[in-house]
Amino acid sequence: MAGSGSRRISRREFIHTSAATALLGSESFRRSEAGRAEVRGACMHDCPDTCSWLMTTENGRAVELEGDRNHPLTRGSLCEKMDGFLTDVLYNPDRLVHPLRRVGEKGEAKFERVDWDEALDEVAFRLKKILSEHGATAVLPYSYAGTEGIVQAKSLDRRFFARLGATRLERDICGATAHAGLTATMGTSTGILPEDIQKSRFIIIWGSNPVVTNPHGWPHVEEARRRGAPVVVIDPLRTPTAERADWHLRPRPGTDAALALGLMHVIVREGLQDVEYIESYTVGFDRLRGRLAEYPPERAAEITGLKPEDIVSLAKAYATTRPATIRTQIAMEKHSNGAMMYRSIACLPALVGAWRHEGGGILQFTADWFYEALGLGSLTMPELEDPKTRSVNMVQLGKALTDEKLDPPIRALIVYNSNPATIAQNQNLVREGLKRKDLLTVVLDHFVTDTARFADYVFPAATQAEYLDLLAPWGSPYLTLNLPAVEPVGEAIPNSEFFRRLARRLGLEEPYLHASDEEIIQQALGSGHPYLEGITYERLRREGWAPLNLPRPYLPFAKGGFPTPSGKCELYAESLLATGMDPLPRYDAPEGDPSSLERYPLTFLSTKSNRYFLNSSHANQPRHLEASGEPRLSIHPKDAANRGIEKGDKVRVFNARGALEIAAEVDEGTLEGVVNMPHGFWASLLPGGSSANALTPDGLSDWGGGGSFYDARVEVEKIGG
Ligand code: SF4
Repeated sequence: MAGSGSRRISRREFIHTSAATALLGSESFRRSEAGRAEVRGACMHDCPDTCSWLMTTENGRAVELEGDRNHPLTRGSLCEKMDGFLTDVLYNPDRLVHPLRRVGEKGEAKFERVDWDEALDEVAFRLKKILSEHGATAVLPYSYAGTEGIVQAKSLDRRFFARLGATRLERDICGATAHAGLTATMGTSTGILPEDIQKSRFIIIWGSNPVVTNPHGWPHVEEARRRGAPVVVIDPLRTPTAERADWHLRPRPGTDAALALGLMHVIVREGLQDVEYIESYTVGFDRLRGRLAEYPPERAAEITGLKPEDIVSLAKAYATTRPATIRTQIAMEKHSNGAMMYRSIACLPALVGAWRHEGGGILQFTADWFYEALGLGSLTMPELEDPKTRSVNMVQLGKALTDEKLDPPIRALIVYNSNPATIAQNQNLVREGLKRKDLLTVVLDHFVTDTARFADYVFPAATQAEYLDLLAPWGSPYLTLNLPAVEPVGEAIPNSEFFRRLARRLGLEEPYLHASDEEIIQQALGSGHPYLEGITYERLRREGWAPLNLPRPYLPFAKGGFPTPSGKCELYAESLLATGMDPLPRYDAPEGDPSSLERYPLTFLSTKSNRYFLNSSHANQPRHLEASGEPRLSIHPKDAANRGIEKGDKVRVFNARGALEIAAEVDEGTLEGVVNMPHGFWASLLPGGSSANALTPDGLSDWGGGGSFYDARVEVEKIGG
């Protein structure tokens, strides 16, 4: 059933695909006499570290992968997630190397091999039919950060869907809530330089587990500690980071805003605030003071479950030690009150004047630097989009696919850089949607993921070893180039090439849809932004990475200059008032989960605690599965005893949305009333066929559009010894 626009893959298309094209003339590509080459690149994962690497090839085949020892932040090591990348991903015999067409029922993962031209022609034919019968909004893209590169994740794909007029995807699953909360206070989510945490003399690691999720940032914390900085971890869970802390405080999940307010109450009550900084560089202190009166340490303690005296001690130590840093990441934002937590925490450094000192302030993201410097907003060509085009939040995919009132319904789903059957909330609803017979599902990936099992067509995606890309890290100031080291295995192609081919099949010939990967990078590097001065494509090809030209010492807000509407740190934010939000920091109990508290009394967390997976990447690889061991549900001894559960028992964890079977880990690693398991496991590989997101609600955070994963409530019962 080839469409009328059927055509063979042209030489031009082939050249776009060819890794050799990008390698030609590469100054960083060193050949030895033995036919070996060392090619610079970087890890693609959605991780703050963005490790630089050197891939050694021999006669066109990658044979070694190691971290770049000269990189100042990542210093030559790649983490466990990249163990066996060459054998387990690049050359894995189970890797997708040809397009596939579904022959079984959706979800069965039964496919036949199909020729690229035939598969693309069929997809184009069906897309054209959907476009003519239902309009472009019947098409929904679904992608996130399966690779962090701007070419393969944020360029031609976005232009393609914008040009089509497809339903817009709100890509808010991770980081958006934290960004929104911090931005409400600071005007940005970017604070200090990651390396400057070494200079801190008091470090609060708040709701984050950098030992596992930012392994190259952790040595800087250790260095600060060697120089005398105490490290305080605020986390309900006893994580590997918390185990290394000097002091571990364990608030109840979702109560962090109350803790921040309690700390501020003590600081102001004791007169420890920086009066001059507040007067010069903040707005709304008097109004904030009024709000703080509602949060004496006793009330904050009642809400958080901490001791009032601990709140007082922490507040005094934080306010009187210079420089002091708060390190946040992404975790606590996954509540219905997540943005307000970050907004409240972000008031603390301004209150004590922590921004005055190198190594003082907040460390969260670095993404805004790159967004600004590379003009990432314009790279996606948002002007192609009609702002009135409807949007779907990616955390509510199941709802969007099953909503009978949606007009037009989603008829085509194109998934790349993501695996929503594993990572999206309300997993059973997502699968129900993916099973729809009238839905055309196209997946581009390296393996037949749990999402690809439902696809009509699965296309083989190239890996980071096989394409050109530019990485704009969210946890480092180093702009990083990834050169292709080898030709794509089999018939795999980069995402960018997939969208070029699909556009051509649909008769879309606009040049901006057919820019080469190198042209996209050159466009980004040519923004003329001062942070990029001296950083050229040629330099990146030669050196691999380059630090942005940020002023040194880096003291972004020592003298105010917050990029807020007022230009000051907004303790009181008019911008929130305008959207109907409370302009002052406040605490509201998380309440996003409609499950009944009586039936489902335990808070369910599904954390990024697995050292061997990055979200759902690598969770199909025997080496990584074996190293991580079977997933376990951490349950407090009292909760376990109340249910007759002992260590190692098989338990059923359930709520109104779903159930999963898992072994119990009875320990005090979690708080009473809270259970926790790692996320990322593929449901299809677990007994019972469900993973953590079978239990998570698809509600949204207070603002920012993130998901309220951690508002999940469950019950647990023993089903076997
Ligand atoms: S996952 Fe993160 S720490 Fe691990 S190699 Fe990749 S960038 Fe580095």
